[in-house]
Amino acid sequence: MKRFSKKYPNWSKDKIIKEVEKYIAPSNGKYASGHMTGGAIDLRLLKNGKKVPMKSSKLTYQENAKSFQPKLPQYIQENRSMMFAALKKAGLSNYPKEYWHWSYGDIWWAKRNKKKTAIYGVIKNIS
Ligand SMILES: [Zn+2]
Repeated sequence: MKRFSKKYPNWSKDKIIKEVEKYIAPSNGKYASGHMTGGAIDLRLLKNGKKVPMKSSKLTYQENAKSFQPKLPQYIQENRSMMFAALKKAGLSNYPKEYWHWSYGDIWWAKRNKKKTAIYGVIKNIS
């Protein structure tokens, strides 16, 4: 936010927030990122402490980010399938636009699992 206000000193706080939220999820409010609740985590697969390939250098960032991406080589799809199966079995839910983003108990998890309520929400500013 500071970077934007320095670069665009004439922008209002609301305009800056709107611009910043094009790149990152809101930190509060009804549609805040599940990360802000403790109900979401970004994950990847490791084998013996080393990163397992989860994306292709031949695809764009956006193409790689999609959880279901048929353009990926078969071995990468299999790596993702292994991770997805384990996390789904544990009750987590994936944000389909980011293969690495998984939730349990946040509003997005509740919505994807057709739950009436979420377990975790954003704590309002207490300072
Ligand atoms: Zn995330």
